[in-house]
Amino acid sequence: MKIVLQNLTKVFPARNKKLDKEVIAVNNFDLEIPDGKLIGLLGPSGCGKSTTLYMISGLQKPTSGKIFFGDNDVTELSTENRGVGLVFQNYALYPHMTVKQNILFPLQNLKGKDKLTKDQMLERALYAAKLVQIDDLMERKPSELSGGQQQRVAIARALVKFPRVLLLDEPLSNLDARLRLQTREEIRRIQKKTGITTVFVTHDQEEAMSISDMIVVMKLGVIQQVGKPQDVYDDPVNLFVAKFLGTPPINVFNGEVKGEKLYIDNNAVLDVKGISDQPVTVGIRPEGFILDENGPMVCKLNNVEVMGRDVSIVSTSEASVNPVIRSIINSDNKVAVNNETIRFSLKPHKVFVFNRETENRIYFEVK
Ligand code: ADP
Ligand code: MG
Repeated sequence: MKIVLQNLTKVFPARNKKLDKEVIAVNNFDLEIPDGKLIGLLGPSGCGKSTTLYMISGLQKPTSGKIFFGDNDVTELSTENRGVGLVFQNYALYPHMTVKQNILFPLQNLKGKDKLTKDQMLERALYAAKLVQIDDLMERKPSELSGGQQQRVAIARALVKFPRVLLLDEPLSNLDARLRLQTREEIRRIQKKTGITTVFVTHDQEEAMSISDMIVVMKLGVIQQVGKPQDVYDDPVNLFVAKFLGTPPINVFNGEVKGEKLYIDNNAVLDVKGISDQPVTVGIRPEGFILDENGPMVCKLNNVEVMGRDVSIVSTSEASVNPVIRSIINSDNKVAVNNETIRFSLKPHKVFVFNRETENRIYFEVK
């Protein structure tokens, strides 16, 4: 089921006009979610991810704009009639019911032509439980399950009605690191197997990058960029997106363009054909540095951390906006640890130039 959001806006009015202002939680969203894909809605806390999800689900009414499922306008449709499965951060299971009863619950309220027999219900519940691999836990109560198992029950409960759309709001946030990894792979597996159009909300860029077919990066209710995770990482449209994606994060510098050359700390570090003279902000990915004793970029060496396959070099520079510069190079490279300075040349496609004021990307020709 394709989902289209058209000029979708949600404004929360001020409770007390003297004390607070209205909040534009979602601002003029235009987005097409292709059928059968997993989309990651990504952005810092408060950027409007949950509000967007709740509008897709019907739990919240948009202030303006429209929502389509396929060709149908569902903007005015109630949640029950939209055919969505919802999973929240806090699994929201009924504590007094067994796993089986929890999964069966959404089926017991079906009416009219959707009404199922007892056997059909049990069959469906077992199917959903098998899908998330909890079919051996059906008689337990939620309190007798781990966090990861509880979240699987919540996912089974969302899937049991065969929804057209699966909506997940930070479903992994309450799990510990290992379970988080495992459960996110599980969600990906289930999504691929069922082919159900899925919207996955998270503030964790690594999580979104690792499981999404497409990510939507948001800031203050406004879409910044939409694309395949790798494409957005490789080609961010502005400084916010460049900074939001990647671990270790991108290195940011104050720079200057003069005569189609990029200067950092008064050194011409890169040719930037096509950019006019101006002060700029520069982003360099950690993997964009090449160890080069004659390289144009000169930094003060702090320390060298060997991490198996890679070497992380920590250095500083007057022009760096971050307290330290982190560069990742292959461990085949020998780093002279005793030196006070370290020199790099740069990989042009790992260097992004931004307008100092607007923070929008300024493109240059990479030869
Ligand atoms: P996210 O899920 O990205 O953290 P939310 O969608 O929950 O963000 O919130 C977006 C903005 O809308 C925030 O500024 C939040 O305070 C505000 N907001 C969310 N829900 C309400 C509400 N029911 N009433 C007033 N403001 C709200
Ligand atoms: Mg939220």
